[in-house]
Amino acid sequence: MSNHKLLELETHSWPDSYGESAEPRMGFFTDTSICIGCKACEVACKEWNHVPESPEAFSGKSYDNTLALGANDWRHVAFIEQRKPLGAEAAAEDLVQAAERASAADGWGLQTYQDGEGVRWLMASDVCKHCTSAACLDVCPTGALFRTEFGTVVVQEDVCNGCGYCVPACPFGVIDKREDDGRVWKCTLCYDRLREDKEPACAQACPTNSIQFGELGELRERAEKRLEQMAAAGQTEARLYGADPDDGVDGFGAFFLLLDEPEVYGLPPDPVVTTRHVGQVWAGVLAGAAALGAGVAAAFLGGRK
Ligand code: SF4
Ligand code: SF4
Repeated sequence: MSNHKLLELETHSWPDSYGESAEPRMGFFTDTSICIGCKACEVACKEWNHVPESPEAFSGKSYDNTLALGANDWRHVAFIEQRKPLGAEAAAEDLVQAAERASAADGWGLQTYQDGEGVRWLMASDVCKHCTSAACLDVCPTGALFRTEFGTVVVQEDVCNGCGYCVPACPFGVIDKREDDGRVWKCTLCYDRLREDKEPACAQACPTNSIQFGELGELRERAEKRLEQMAAAGQTEARLYGADPDDGVDGFGAFFLLLDEPEVYGLPPDPVVTTRHVGQVWAGVLAGAAALGAGVAAAFLGGRK
């Protein structure tokens, strides 16, 4: 990776704090346009990481019984049913163009949803974003949350004291406390596997390559090309979510290609790191304390005259 790319993806504590042992920043590109909703990622994650079962029953919300990320769900495959028959054909101006686009979309494997009867399914495997500016990590008082040599964000279960400060700090509602042991849990991007040069379990299990694992800079380039390909096939509402280093969390380490607005998938449209103004707040408190101290000193000295 070029120095330029490395700097662009830099976090507060990576790569500098690792010196020579820093590894390239690794992440996920989840291309939801080719997710088939099989949930192999959820199962592989639970198996590899010994994540307890989630006892939810039939939710009645399409094929989604997990419903959200949580302490016992480190991957969550959302199923969204839309009465919106948007295909390559919808953007076409005439029947010939519609037929050409539909055939191109089928040939490139873009038509992953079922749009009979005017309904389409959007499927997306959500996960911790491994934010460049991670509020969970900023507020952790014990150092249980740390930035790894791969630039990912991991909780050390033997250091977490269960204070729970990180839970409201996460702008995505990802990190969560496990009720029976009181500690917080979330995706580690399979830190143990990365250290053994293996890809994360979810990415390995995904049969369609919807979850792609690799060096973050390369993934972003790959995602841009995919987006161009989709636009050429008439999928004009496709967009990248979390690939912009200038967004409110300075870019995600795990970003997405979505087929609609983030809100449709239950994702915040414009997430901002919740600790962004902490420095200003402390500067204000210190300035106030200094002014108060000066006033007290002036009153004391004035009284002695
Ligand atoms: S998504 Fe939440 S839990 Fe994951 S790194 Fe960002 S702030 Fe932390
Ligand atoms: S394994 Fe891949 S295709 Fe299956 S649900 Fe997960 S992301 Fe989608």
